[in-house]
Parts: sequence; structure tokens; C-alpha cells
Amino acid sequence: MQIDQIMQQAATAYEQYKNIPPLQRAAFLETIGVEITARREALVKTAGEETNLPMARLNGEIVRTTTQLQKFADLIKEGSWVEAVIDTTPNIRRMLLPVGPVVVFGASNFPFAFSTAGGDTASALAAGATVVVKGHPAHPRTSQLMFEAIQAAIVQSGMPAYTVQHVTGDYHTGKELVVHPNTTGVGFTGSQQGGKALCAYAAERETPIPVFAEMGSVNPVVFLPQALETRSAELADMFATSITLGAGQFCTNPGLLIGLESPAFTAFQQQLGIALEKTSPQKMLHPGIHSAFLEGRSRMLASQDVTLSPAPVLDFDASAVRPSLALTSGAAILANPALKEEVFGPHALLVACKDKAELLAVLRSLKGQLTTSVMATEEDLAQWQEVIDVQVTLAGRIILNAAPTGVEVCAAMIHGGPYPATTDARFTSVGTAAIRRWVRPVCFQQFPEALLPDELKTANPRGIWRLVDNQFTR
Ligand code: NAP
Repeated sequence: MQIDQIMQQAATAYEQYKNIPPLQRAAFLETIGVEITARREALVKTAGEETNLPMARLNGEIVRTTTQLQKFADLIKEGSWVEAVIDTTPNIRRMLLPVGPVVVFGASNFPFAFSTAGGDTASALAAGATVVVKGHPAHPRTSQLMFEAIQAAIVQSGMPAYTVQHVTGDYHTGKELVVHPNTTGVGFTGSQQGGKALCAYAAERETPIPVFAEMGSVNPVVFLPQALETRSAELADMFATSITLGAGQFCTNPGLLIGLESPAFTAFQQQLGIALEKTSPQKMLHPGIHSAFLEGRSRMLASQDVTLSPAPVLDFDASAVRPSLALTSGAAILANPALKEEVFGPHALLVACKDKAELLAVLRSLKGQLTTSVMATEEDLAQWQEVIDVQVTLAGRIILNAAPTGVEVCAAMIHGGPYPATTDARFTSVGTAAIRRWVRPVCFQQFPEALLPDELKTANPRGIWRLVDNQFTR
């Protein structure tokens, strides 16, 4: 089908869908969850064949996907997310309303939770936007099966037929979707190259639109001295697990491990190397990601300032990879920005800095990140406050004494960060605050009660929290 026809259908469906009461929209999201669960076995089997991800991970991801849908359903049932504000004199009332049809690009590394019925789709549907999904080309059958679950929910819930549509194709199709005049926003998870290309298409349009692209990062971790002296073995195990989780194919994978040159840092390097060597080889998601990983890692290791640690680790066979750890100095990474680039896969670079000033300089030299972590004791924190100060400017999520992999779907989560981690650091792609990407504030001035949305009526029929004459009330 022609993209133009798809986007016309998305716009027509939007005219109806945006007026569907929140409780019915919530029931629709819940029904999608039920339909996904009913197809769980087939979804897991198909995704296993298409992505090489293990069954346990895929089963867990199904639960994450249905939980995500339920959380957005709960959010819109409760209703206060619309941020209703009422000033009675003069009579001006504001709330958040959906933007229109949006386009979602499925991610390769989350075939369920960030693909066809994933977080971007769930948050857009919760907001009242209609969705056109471009399925990721690496798992087309999984994407189609997931779309069938959504279609069944559309029919059962009596939603407009084209509330969600599913398209496949190459990058020309992606471009057509982004530049179509009916598209009002884009959600994307993937490479920097891909995210930047979509932004460029959006900027070329007669009416520019936001592209919410999550493009990954190296997630720098700082290991402060006392933490390393007291528990380097424990930290080595924690980070070996984190580096190899999902064959390293997470946007929160810890790629840069920074500390001070010291016997404790050397011990940590050795312990981490040993822990990594014990892990099993893993197949990557698709041949493109596999070869990009090998090339990226070779490029990094070709630098004369980088050494493999503790011993060269060779690839197991043509389709599986083993993790690796490399070592460089603070001075080298400051002189060579290429060492700060993401190598998407199970690989990390240790950075040994000569003193505190160099460590802070390394942190300050980094581009925007999704996460940054610090391993520290209370005494470390008291002596290294500057590290936290820099980290707050660097990333959307700052983590104390835990690994960055594992992103909770909750109200407070920020999975976003300064460019180039994402294209707009004000928003998150994980957690219920992700709904804010698909809405805009609208104010109604001098409107009679009968013409106001329920959320703004004086009697507050939805019983939501509102700011009325500068007082929070319900
Ligand atoms: P990708 O190449 O960025 O592709 C993701 C989606 O964007 C696909 O649907 C792709 O469609 C589309 N796309 C990419 N470039 C485009 C362009 N110029 N114009 C229009 N559409 C475009 O991501 P990937 O295939 O998942 O993996 C490639 C690399 O991305 C990885 O090696 C890794 O470095 C990175 N990655 C990052 C994350 C993250 O968490 N941020 C997740 C996965 C991958 P077509 O293929 O049809 O063009």
C-alpha cells in the first residue's frame, strides 16, 4: 500500500481516536496486553528464530511489554497526567492534548518492548495519537505477529480500524513516513546515523516535526578509590554481568570504566578480565550488528594507545562473539576522541587517569549520555562531589553503586539524555513520562462549561489533580 494512503488513514482514524474517552483507551491498551499474552508462545519462538535472543530473555521481554501497556492504561485511567491548570479570573484553562498521527521505528535490540507494541506505541496510544509502525527489518515475522495482536485488540475494543498500522520497507519507506505532511512526530531507537538521518528528513519538511531518537551512549562509570579498595572483586562480577548482558546489545551497556591509576584499579582490571573470560560466547542480533561490532572493536584496538586486557580474546566462531576489555590512559582518551565512540556489543574500555583533575577532564570531555554511574563509599562521595556535579550535566540518569543496564518502567524514570544520546534531553522514552512526547499544551480562553473537555470542567468530573488558581486540588 502507498504511504500516502496509510497516512491518510492514520489522520482519519486520529479524528475519531483522539475523542475516545480515556477509560476506553485504557481498556484498549489492556486488551492489547491480553492479545500479546495469548500469542506469547508463537511470539517468543518467532523472535528467538529472528534475533538469536534466548527464550528466558524473550519471555521476560513479553512481560515487560504487557506491563508497560498496563502502566500507561493506569496512567490515563487516573488522568492527572494531562496537567490541567485553571485560572478562573480571567477564565483560562489549559491541558495536554495529543499531537496527531505519529510514526514509530521498531528497534532491533528489543523485538517486543521497543518494537511494534513497545514503549513508543504504548505511550502514543495512551496520549490519544494514532500510530504507524515501521517494523524493524531484522525481525519482520515477529513484528507482523505483534501487529496481529494489536489488530485483534482494535476489533475487540471497537477502536477505529486504522488506529495502528504496520508497514515494512527500506529506508526510502522510512523517509516517506517522516516527510509525509500528516506525520506529527517520530519515535526511534537505533544508531546515531539512523537517528540523525530521520532528524534531517524532519527538518526538510515544510512543517518541521519533532523526532524523538534514542541513539545510545557509552554510559561512563566512575570507580572511586575507596570503593575499589574495599570491593573490587564484587564490582568486577557486577560489571562482567552488565557488559555481557544481551551480548552487550543494550543502549545502557557500560562502555567506559574510569578510575585512578592505582594497585586497586589494576586488581579490578584483572578481576574483571577473569570474570569476562568465564562468560559464554553469544550470538548477536543480526549479521549487520555483528560485523559493526567487530569493526568498531578492531578500530579501537588499532589505536596505539589501547591495549587488550588481560589477554587477547578471540572470537569464538563466525556468528558468536566473546566479550573483551581494553585499557587506555586518561591522557590518551583526551587526545583521541574516537576512543569515546560506542562499540555496540560486549566490549568495555578501562580508562586509568593519573589524578583527580585528569579524571574530571575526561568526564567533562564526553558528549551527552543516557546514563553515568559512580561506584563509591560515603567517604568517596564526600571527597569527590565534583564528579557528581559533572555527571549531572552529562546524562539523564545518574546511578550510585549499581550497573546501568536494566531500565525500570516507572513514573520517575528518565531514559534520555543530552545529544547525541537522544535528540531531545527534555523527554524520556522509557517510563510513563514518555507520554509527554506525543502531546502539546492547549489553553481554552473564555469557554463555556459545556464546550470544555471533562478535565477542565469546574466540577472536575474525572476527579483528577489540577492546579486551580495556583492551588493543587482535586
Ligand atoms: P539502525 O540502523 O539505526 O536502524 C533502525 C531503524 O531505522 C530501521 O528501521 C532502519 O530501517 C531505520 N533507518 C536507519 N537509517 C535510516 C535512514 N538513513 N533513513 C531511513 N530509515 C533509516 O539500527 P539497527 O539496525 O538496529 O542497528 C545498527 C546499529 O545501531 C548497531 O550496530 C548499534 O550501533 C546501533 N543500535 C543502537 C541502539 C540503541 O539502543 N540506541 C539499539 C540498536 C542498535 P532500514 O534498515 O530499512 O533502513
